[in-house]
Amino acid sequence: MSNWLDDLTNEHIRTLQPYQSARRLFSASEGEQQLWLNANESPKAAPASIDYELFNRYPDCQPKDLIHAYASYAGVKDDQVIATRGADEGIELIIRAFCQPNKDNILICPPTYGMYAISAETFAVGVTKVPLKDYFSLDIEGIKSAVDDVNVVFLCSPNNPTGTCIDREQTLEVLEICKNKALVVVDEAYIEFRPEHTVTALLASYPNLVVLRTLSKAFALAGIRCGFTIAGSPIIETLLKVIAPYPVPAPVAQVALQSLSDDGVTHMRSRTAQLNTELDTLTDALSRLEGVEIIGKTNANFVLFRHDKSAQIMQYLVSKNLFIRDMSKQLRLDNCLRITVGTTQQNNKVLEAISMFLEQDDLRKEI
Ligand SMILES: *Cc1c(COP(=O)(O)O)cnc(C)c1O
Repeated sequence: MSNWLDDLTNEHIRTLQPYQSARRLFSASEGEQQLWLNANESPKAAPASIDYELFNRYPDCQPKDLIHAYASYAGVKDDQVIATRGADEGIELIIRAFCQPNKDNILICPPTYGMYAISAETFAVGVTKVPLKDYFSLDIEGIKSAVDDVNVVFLCSPNNPTGTCIDREQTLEVLEICKNKALVVVDEAYIEFRPEHTVTALLASYPNLVVLRTLSKAFALAGIRCGFTIAGSPIIETLLKVIAPYPVPAPVAQVALQSLSDDGVTHMRSRTAQLNTELDTLTDALSRLEGVEIIGKTNANFVLFRHDKSAQIMQYLVSKNLFIRDMSKQLRLDNCLRITVGTTQQNNKVLEAISMFLEQDDLRKEI
């Protein structure tokens, strides 16, 4: 980079790297069939239609019908919901509104979703780490001793990439610890796969609770970038101060609204039921492969596993144009890979490839 531009760039930005998605790293050569089981997307799209009649006008900042539809779906009041450009923007808004650069900190419990730390870093907000304990439960004592120096605690349930849910008791303990001190954000991006675990009912008793949701996973709409943040109305009003003027594009609002219709929700439920079954089958088959250890739980749409040869497995799959996610750099997840559940056919393809690798590896040993 030129020196003057380097000097102009904010100090905390200079050392950052752009987000490296597998899509950026492995673009397809022409005519090649690629299989993407790396980003916890739905294997099939949900049908949608677009009406362009009002595209000459700016959309509402927060389309009323969309907010109402999501609030009804989530069982909360309209003034407890804000629509964002994916749940990722919700994370960013919370950090921008509630943390001061070069002064405040967020708390995360790794291994967990990467965007909490990434968002904090882009705003020069500190990241305090209180790692998960055995069986990926929260370290309540650790959180308690760190909480005086943090403004926001990020929890993820079901957690990406461990697939574990946080015990209700533990969530309550964190909410109590943070009372009058810090916000507790519970990221429920995968809640539709285990709806009974939602904590939205606790909003009435805990004004410091924030819940993140998205249409990217169970609703099969990662491409439209639409998420929701649910919280008490004072928190929502604060977030409305920092959000962009027109954050929900009109076509996004239309498609999102269709997905939240009775029909849309019914389809979402049958899709998640089917994926839950597929995931059980995939996990079962995977666990029977030699050297494979399933890690965490399968409460979302992915399975995490450990194998001594994880790096070679990953490399082999990439050479076959099969993309899963390498999690081995994450805390306590050495040699771990994550597979997003796909269609029966897609799951079989990746399973066959892994067993093929293991067989060839055995042969190599014998020679
Ligand atoms: C995928 C994911 C998100 C982001 O969802 P978007 O709405 O697509 O931005 C947030 N949190 C977790 C835990 C996720 O896995």
